[in-house]
Amino acid sequence: MNKMQLKILSRSENENFARNTVAAFALTLNPTLSELSDVKTAVSEAVTNCIVHAYPDKEGWITLDCETDETTLHITVSDSGKGIEDLEQALTPFYTSLPGEERSGMGFTIMQTFMTAFSVRSTPNKGTTVKMSKTFGAKADRDAR
Ligand code: ATP
Ligand code: MG
Repeated sequence: MNKMQLKILSRSENENFARNTVAAFALTLNPTLSELSDVKTAVSEAVTNCIVHAYPDKEGWITLDCETDETTLHITVSDSGKGIEDLEQALTPFYTSLPGEERSGMGFTIMQTFMTAFSVRSTPNKGTTVKMSKTFGAKADRDAR
């Protein structure tokens, strides 16, 4: 078991840093390129959501907590921003609260699809916490090796 915590300001240039740092941390679990790419994509979506939605007109902290056990990477992405009023609506594919701003409303759906487990908790005006995990060496990925 290993742990890592990363705290970044909600600036768009930190999105690439966060996703690559989490990917580097995951390397000890010997992921395939495809598994690593799934993790990067999911982290990127979660961090982008904090930057764009949680702190729309200010900078705030984003905290990533990562933990590994033998086969699985666990990631928690949390912000202390705006929060989500209607979680069911937010989780609906193609729903976005910012239409017309090149958002497709697919971030949560992508996280759900690319990771083994996914959940989100949010309190309006308090913040949002996304928990995801990826188990490496799942059969589908082994076959693709
Ligand atoms: P895309 O991710 O495709 O660019 P999107 O960000 O709008 O579009 P999702 O990532 O699926 O789509 O998020 C859906 C909605 O949930 C967002 O439009 C936003 O209203 C809300 N949301 C998501 N993450 C957060 C967050 N960290 N803080 C506040 N609101 C959020
Ligand atoms: Mg998004």
